[in-house]
Amino acid sequence: MTVQAQTALDATDPDTIATRLEAVRARIAAAERAAGRAAGSVTLVAVSKTHGAEAVQEALAAGQAVFGENRVQEAAAKFPALRAAHPALRLHIIGPLQTNKVREAMAIADVIETLDRPRLAQAIAAERARARRCPDLLVQVNTGREPQKAGIDPDAAEAFVAECRDALGLPVAGLMCIPPVEDDPRPHFDLLAAMAGRLGLGVVSMGMSGDFETAIAHGATHVRVGSAIFGARPPLTRA
Ligand SMILES: *Cc1c(COP(=O)(O)O)cnc(C)c1O
Repeated sequence: MTVQAQTALDATDPDTIATRLEAVRARIAAAERAAGRAAGSVTLVAVSKTHGAEAVQEALAAGQAVFGENRVQEAAAKFPALRAAHPALRLHIIGPLQTNKVREAMAIADVIETLDRPRLAQAIAAERARARRCPDLLVQVNTGREPQKAGIDPDAAEAFVAECRDALGLPVAGLMCIPPVEDDPRPHFDLLAAMAGRLGLGVVSMGMSGDFETAIAHGATHVRVGSAIFGARPPLTRA
């Protein structure tokens, strides 16, 4: 069966990528209205990690253009062919980035959301000088100060952004966070949005399937939604 035939059938099935995507879009629109924010001011990053290229195809056919992937290797296997067929496609890397994956990440990504340490900033700056291009960068802030979690400490974040922008000349477009799972996310969202405001950064990436409406109410410009669109994932194995 072709992808198109499948999509046509999907219109009558309440539990497909196309219908779930439509439902997420409607919820985003409602959250924008409720927050007094302009329609379309929030970008939906559809997180397709662990799901195959066919799933991404279905989302593309339903009008989704922006995707997020955790792992560079998985993204590199899935996205170049899709991008060739869909020039509007935009890919965000949203997982921890090892310095030895920087070159590949910068070759395939439009946005790297997980700039989280000086060594990575230096590696990105070196590759930028070599390749003469650089994706937009978001600084990941560890708002919960969790020792096992990636991200720059909130107390060090503003100096780190200044170093990336001013000393290294990197295109820092905004901030990103993943609040601790067991916490009320709202103080984390407020902290990130306020910090972005102080730094004059336009992009605030926060909110996932379980809390994206709350994130929009608290200033998210980008929400990263996976399972609410693509369905449940098999448990993640850590790299
Ligand atoms: C997997 C992931 C998401 C999406 O999570 P869901 O709960 O499936 O929406 C968002 N952000 C990051 C950084 C992720 O790793």
